[in-house]
Amino acid sequence: MILFFGMRPGKSETTLLQGTPCPHCGNSGTLELYRTPHYFHLFWIKIFPVYTSRMIECTHCKRGYFKEDFTEDMRRAIP
Ligand SMILES: [Zn+2]
Repeated sequence: MILFFGMRPGKSETTLLQGTPCPHCGNSGTLELYRTPHYFHLFWIKIFPVYTSRMIECTHCKRGYFKEDFTEDMRRAIP
């Protein structure tokens, strides 16, 4: 019997970070947080969430920030 298992990304969630300035263009209220949960799957059926990846994108200058680029303000604004 062959078992198919591994990781699958779930549905992304977007949250607007109010009052947090973008370090690149300096605009406030333009940063969006994308949260994507990653699930362990067995035969493509999601069993349980393993981790959630977070990414922030500025809707004004289109600059993307990964976890290691988050500023103090961004970290505080993340729910
Ligand atoms: Zn920006």
